[in-house]
Amino acid sequence: MSSSSSSQLFGRNLSQALRPVSLSRPLPQRVAAVTDTKKKTNGKAKPVPMELIRVDQQKAAAETEILRKIAYQVGVDAESVTAQQAYQGVAWTVRERLIDAFNKTQAYWREKDPKFIYYLSAEFLMGRTLTNAVNNLGLEGEFGEAIRKLGYSLEELQSQEQNASLGNGGLGRLAACFLDSIATLSLPGWGYGIRYRYGMFRQGLENGYQSESPDYWLTNGNPWEIPRRELAYKIGFYGSVQQGKWVPDEQVYAVAYDNPIPGYGTKTVGNLRLFDCQPMSEFKLASFNEGKYSEATDAKRKAEDISAVLYPNDATEYGRELRLKQQIFFVSAAIQDTLARFKKTHKDMKELPSKACFQMNDTHPTIAVAELMRLLIDQEGLKWDAAWDITTKSLAFTNHTVMPEALEKWPVKVMAKLLPRHMEIIEKIDSIWKDSLRAKVTSEVGSQPKQAAPEKAAEATKEAAAEPPVDPVEAALAKYSIITENPWEKGVKLVNMAFMATIGSKSTNGVAAIHSEIIKETIFKDFYELSPEKFQNKTNGVTPRRWLAYCNPGLSKLITKTLGSDEWISKTDQLTGLKQHADDKAFQKQWRSIKLENKQRLADLIKSKTGISVPTNALYDVQIKRIHEYKRQHLNMFSVVNRYLEIKAASPEERKKFVPRVVIIGGKAASAYVMAKKMIKLVTSLGDVINNDPEVSDLLKVVFIPDYNVSLAETIIPGAEVSQHISTAGTEASGTSNMKFQMNGCLIIGTMDGANIEIAQESGKENMFVFGVDAKDIGRLREERKNFKVNDPRWEKVMSFLTGNTFEQGLFQDLVDNVNDMSKANDWFLLGNDFTDYLRAQDEIDVLYKDQDAWTKRSILYTASSGFFSSDRCIDQYAKEIWDVKPCPVPSS
Ligand SMILES: *Cc1c(COP(=O)(O)O)cnc(C)c1O
Repeated sequence: MSSSSSSQLFGRNLSQALRPVSLSRPLPQRVAAVTDTKKKTNGKAKPVPMELIRVDQQKAAAETEILRKIAYQVGVDAESVTAQQAYQGVAWTVRERLIDAFNKTQAYWREKDPKFIYYLSAEFLMGRTLTNAVNNLGLEGEFGEAIRKLGYSLEELQSQEQNASLGNGGLGRLAACFLDSIATLSLPGWGYGIRYRYGMFRQGLENGYQSESPDYWLTNGNPWEIPRRELAYKIGFYGSVQQGKWVPDEQVYAVAYDNPIPGYGTKTVGNLRLFDCQPMSEFKLASFNEGKYSEATDAKRKAEDISAVLYPNDATEYGRELRLKQQIFFVSAAIQDTLARFKKTHKDMKELPSKACFQMNDTHPTIAVAELMRLLIDQEGLKWDAAWDITTKSLAFTNHTVMPEALEKWPVKVMAKLLPRHMEIIEKIDSIWKDSLRAKVTSEVGSQPKQAAPEKAAEATKEAAAEPPVDPVEAALAKYSIITENPWEKGVKLVNMAFMATIGSKSTNGVAAIHSEIIKETIFKDFYELSPEKFQNKTNGVTPRRWLAYCNPGLSKLITKTLGSDEWISKTDQLTGLKQHADDKAFQKQWRSIKLENKQRLADLIKSKTGISVPTNALYDVQIKRIHEYKRQHLNMFSVVNRYLEIKAASPEERKKFVPRVVIIGGKAASAYVMAKKMIKLVTSLGDVINNDPEVSDLLKVVFIPDYNVSLAETIIPGAEVSQHISTAGTEASGTSNMKFQMNGCLIIGTMDGANIEIAQESGKENMFVFGVDAKDIGRLREERKNFKVNDPRWEKVMSFLTGNTFEQGLFQDLVDNVNDMSKANDWFLLGNDFTDYLRAQDEIDVLYKDQDAWTKRSILYTASSGFFSSDRCIDQYAKEIWDVKPCPVPSS
């Protein structure tokens, strides 16, 4: 049979198969289905209305397609559908539109061959996709109508979708916002990461403590990914180096899954390529036949472990081999994938930096330095210097924290065992690097007095007798070294990944102005002095689509109406146009009524998640973020205790003066972080006491919303009136939820830390509730804290309340000791120093809230001045100042 007749035959069959389901079904049955409610598949199923069943094939494409998907993809008789089935039908239909645009974009880019940005990140906290895809693709009209006819709303269907929680917190969500902006700006770019089968753990509460359960987010399948089973890369582990080349002991496959990323207001659809780990062979049949079942499937299980779970740590890293395996796994696959595509159209590897830039999101992907070197030398046959030139021109590095425990340092022993060739390369990089500095360091050391005072020198000689003499030049070079000695464990050598990243890349950036200054003065001080031009700032941003336009449709509509167009959604500078309405009483009233609707939605959410009823006439005060001592949720709770005690001490007449407040906390604690878990217990215990005390009635409520994630944030943020970003100055690199709240007109109480500083600049510091000590004083204050006494009687009252008989004996003793017993700890995060000023700022909040017009005016000003914090602005800066990647929009025709 010729190929043309075969395709004709296939075409005929296909066209028959593509007849809309509604036309192939007898009507009487349908009528019965609509009227007979007992036939519903379960209580939640809704009958499919007649007009949808008798759909006109020509004019109702989306409706027909959705029905077809329900019938043939979901595989249910489409007489009545549950929300989950309707979601599946809609999602699989949207998927096709998405893939059409995706294929066109990728084909266009293949043809044009522009320079690409590859965003390497161990985490992508994507959340849900349906609403974002429908809206970004401009399908809301057509699909909204079809969904309504099915008896649902887009919001209802979206709530059926599992969150893709492949990240811990801010860092992972940043990567997700960046993908949205890269596509929106039509920048040729892909994300690369791991397709974890289990994402961020699900958080529950047991007796007020955090409980953790695995997040199997793929239960219902994933309509948003395209498996590329034919695209698999070999990843090696262990083994040895023979004749300069690596012979791994163990190998697995990295199998690609594409997740199309639709841009807003463009035909561009980018890509997030995630890798799943698969064994080279299913199992050892011989062992299986001998009855050794577990041995037979051992390799398979071990391979599958690699992409099994996201490490549930935030700012606390545990040096475990599996984590390093995950890192090399996705980084190697990403680079191999990129080189394979590059080589299809280019012969000379030297052109790589003009076609590809890899942005390393924190230290997790920084093994890329050694991996790119290895591939260029061992596989492509380049000489060391040529490979180094290409590597350092193709990589860029983002630092996300100065907290020492979050700066990855891998034991040389672990690295050498798992990745012997990489370790060799790292040693060579380190040695060449130090050689390049030796002359400079020698002259510096030479210019300093070499000899110690005679008596000290004699002592030193005695002490040093057992050890070989230290060469002063070598000693001075140590501060630049990638390979360092573990200060806590003599003789144990570590690979400093942040140093390797800085040395091996063209730029290092921080994520907010203050943070980018701090890294130049602290962790990268010596590197900054060597090459200041390498250091940059890129203040974070968030996508205004997800975090304003889609999560707050009420406000979004008002903004569009007021500004006369919806252009602000991609040109957020236009939000400044709201400023001229900030004093308009009628406008303020509309603004407030939208906030009230959003508060009602939040109150409903709280009721459904916790059973707690909260009044909507109270001030909604929100702190949602990872639970951490540096983020100081306990400081928030100290103020809650103080408020509680003040209400209790007041007379019924005086109580009328209090502004009712609902304090809402959400966030996960790293599983091994004992103090963070105790902080959750503090919130829930206070909630138990306060929410059930008739004396405070509705004046104060404390709510912990469990399992904080992206989609909860999308409901919580629009309903918040004040939000707390109260980290010890100098500890929060940027923060991004502060930006989300600002966009939604939520006032901020915060320290001069991270991006709060820039938010204050944009919105006016006088409009923010600013408190606390300055970052530049932290070092000194930490030293002085030992002898520091909090000069505020309220502090003592709060401490006694927490250790008194309201709670189980000793329950919060450790938490209190940490901040209050200077013989045991030194209040590292300086709660004592900031307590009084924090309460002052809290009082200011109450005062302003009583003047609703003044409050609303500020709220409008926040939204109006949030334009700078769009991730579009941030990505535009990365593209121009680091990546040198230019937009390559798909033409409309
Ligand atoms: C934005 C976001 C974060 C980051 O919050 P910060 O307050 O900046 O730490 C964390 N988790 C989720 C789910 C987010 O959406």
